[in-house]
Amino acid sequence: MPHPFIKLLRQTLPHQVCRYCMAPSAEGALCTHCQDALLDLKPRCFRCALPLNDPAGICGECLANPPAFERTLCADSYRPPISYWLQNFKDYRDLRDGHLLVQRLIQELETAYRADDLPDYLIPVPLHWRRALWRSFNQASWMAEQLRAHFDIPVIQALRRTRPGSDQRHLSRQDRLRNLRAVFQLQSDRRIHEHLQNRHLAVIDDVITTTATARAISAELRRQGAGRVDIWCLARTDKTHLSY
Ligand SMILES: [Zn+2]
Ligand SMILES: [Zn+2]
Repeated sequence: MPHPFIKLLRQTLPHQVCRYCMAPSAEGALCTHCQDALLDLKPRCFRCALPLNDPAGICGECLANPPAFERTLCADSYRPPISYWLQNFKDYRDLRDGHLLVQRLIQELETAYRADDLPDYLIPVPLHWRRALWRSFNQASWMAEQLRAHFDIPVIQALRRTRPGSDQRHLSRQDRLRNLRAVFQLQSDRRIHEHLQNRHLAVIDDVITTTATARAISAELRRQGAGRVDIWCLARTDKTHLSY
């Protein structure tokens, strides 16, 4: 977390200053130099976006345990300064960092879907209602709204959490999986069920770590009749994920 003074300074800075190096920047949140310096050109697994050594491959985990989702798109690895901006956006609701990160994702998506069909619907990952009451900000829903505005793809709040997810960041991988089993379910609304039949969906989340959430949600959506599920996220951790 940045020093409170730096945080205050950043919040009061005009938009014409680069969010990273604070150089004058006429073209938006990052100056051209920082945009280039922060470009993430790693080859990634087509299915889960894990960094790979060989370009355009599929990682061992996705080959051994194919997920129910088709492909994962992310703009960045989860590392500084991206991780700081994510924390500002998610925990402190700094929407300037939210916009900056979503903009990077949009650029990635524009390239990735040049030779592929865009999804029919965007499905944000839900917060449990008790956490939603406390935090009153679902970063995935906010992201989905920005993406809807850009791509003109409708958002459906199709999922609900059946149990509160404890803060996943502090759990072991095994506990995360246990926690996620049967946590995500389709809303009990017949129209939502009908909408999803044979449709191409993109699940919107902020960070992908073990892919456990993405696997659980895409399995549920496919089970309910979705034709294809993609995962769109702001950042991906570089760790290999758990086999199961
Ligand atoms: Zn800069
Ligand atoms: Zn993979």
